[in-house]
Amino acid sequence: MLDPLALRARLSGVRDRIARAARRVGREPSSVRLVAVSKTFPLDQIRAASEAGQLDFGENKVQEALPKISATSSLGLRWHLLGHLQSNKVRKVVSSFDTIHSIDDAALLRKVDDAAIASGHTIDILVQIDLANEPTKHGAKPEELTSILKVAATCRAARMRGLMLLPPAVGDPEQARSYFVALRTLRDKLVGDGADRAVLGELSMGMSHDFEIAVEEGATIVRVGSAIFGERDHP
Ligand SMILES: *Cc1c(COP(=O)(O)O)cnc(C)c1O
Repeated sequence: MLDPLALRARLSGVRDRIARAARRVGREPSSVRLVAVSKTFPLDQIRAASEAGQLDFGENKVQEALPKISATSSLGLRWHLLGHLQSNKVRKVVSSFDTIHSIDDAALLRKVDDAAIASGHTIDILVQIDLANEPTKHGAKPEELTSILKVAATCRAARMRGLMLLPPAVGDPEQARSYFVALRTLRDKLVGDGADRAVLGELSMGMSHDFEIAVEEGATIVRVGSAIFGERDHP
């Protein structure tokens, strides 16, 4: 377990690397939001990161996240759901999280909107895209986006903000670059074809081993776990 000083140093190291990657391609460092992925890490690590100025935190599993969210409710943190969302958890998610990164079909989006309306919350939505046709992974196919965008346009409490990518694991981070480029290109094409830019502004892509490349290719949100908190004992 990292002590608070070590955690602070790692966090500021990651922030510096994001800023440098952004400047390399002429972007403002403030155009990239860092989500600290705290899955499997305990509350004191989250509190230490919060004390070091970290606002956005990401979790994979609803069950694991809910107690962390309620225990830190006084800290004003923003919580991001990164993992697959089962429909029986939708109600809990809309009242606890700020952003869902893993919406991958129109019916699920409709459910999230209905639940958010019923609970009096608003929630930001990213649509997870599967660019590699991976049978084991979640994510919408690019051609399914049109129908998801149609539903998004009618949502009242779920606000679509952009796209999320979890590319196949590759040994060399440079190999992920073509996926990042493909996600940005897909977004630009949709906007070119008339989609509302406001619902496609965010690109959530890049993790510990490749976030600098993602920033170079246009990421507005990077999701970084182990580079901040250390290696996870279990996946
Ligand atoms: C775990 C996870 C991350 C962070 O992974 P690291 O390699 O620890 O940075 C990012 N995104 C998703 C969807 C994850 O599940």
